[in-house]
Amino acid sequence: MKQVLIAEGLVSSLSASPRLIGARCQRCDALSFPLLSGCARCGSEDLQAIELPARGRLWTWTSQEFLPKSPPYTGGESKETFKSWYVGYVDLDGLHVEGRLVGFEERTPEIGEEVELTLIPFGIDGNGDEVMIYGFQPVGLVEEN
Ligand SMILES: [Zn+2]
Repeated sequence: MKQVLIAEGLVSSLSASPRLIGARCQRCDALSFPLLSGCARCGSEDLQAIELPARGRLWTWTSQEFLPKSPPYTGGESKETFKSWYVGYVDLDGLHVEGRLVGFEERTPEIGEEVELTLIPFGIDGNGDEVMIYGFQPVGLVEEN
């Protein structure tokens, strides 16, 4: 099955080591994600696209206990197949990026722990392609399994 990203311009590639594409303001040095046309801090339009760090520390998290309303939600689950998930904000060089958390079947996430970017199957689109979203998993998860 072909894999596609849920949106263009968010992630560098579908490789095993993806990176989020953000921006660094050339005037005030603020980071932003996703890539915007102007700096959220100073309004400058002089932004440079950069790959954000693959790893960061979990800043805070919560859990999604019910199927989000659709639309806008486009995930493939039904009320019957829905399983709750964790969502968190990860500190990437001071920028807090929201993403789904995976690899926490055995325990709950811990604030401050190191996590890394990963790609997660989200659903099947109208072309029969597997749609991938970005998320974060505990560092070392792949090696341990
Ligand atoms: Zn700025």
